[in-house]
Amino acid sequence: MEIESKQQILERRKELEQELVDMLKETESDFTLDHVRDAIYNEEDNDDMMKVVAMFDRGGDASELSNVLELVTDAWNYFPHEVLGGISPAEKLLEHQSQSPLYECPECKLKYREKKWAKACEAWCREHKSCNLEITAHAEK
Ligand SMILES: [Zn+2]
Repeated sequence: MEIESKQQILERRKELEQELVDMLKETESDFTLDHVRDAIYNEEDNDDMMKVVAMFDRGGDASELSNVLELVTDAWNYFPHEVLGGISPAEKLLEHQSQSPLYECPECKLKYREKKWAKACEAWCREHKSCNLEITAHAEK
């Protein structure tokens, strides 16, 4: 799961809400989006994900079930959980990413998430005294 920004998470969440509503309709579930959201928010352990899956389970075929599983997994990752302090696992990951140190090219001072790009940039900058766009495309903005 690669997370780029908070905005991306919020957009994905909105898409998922629509997909969940569609899926609830399709499986003729008695549950609503709020039930799904609450179950995820109040979860106590990962087994609770199966409770959400059960909301869609009408004994459909395997392909329906696998669509449900995929959707619920995404919702689980993008919806807020109380145990995480009211944020989603995706936001948690984003927080973690933004706290990890960046690697800097000592020549041009661009910063990279991955050490290998900082090294590549440094080698290029030192040799050419100019930046390589293919490398700097990986820099953090
Ligand atoms: Zn550089």
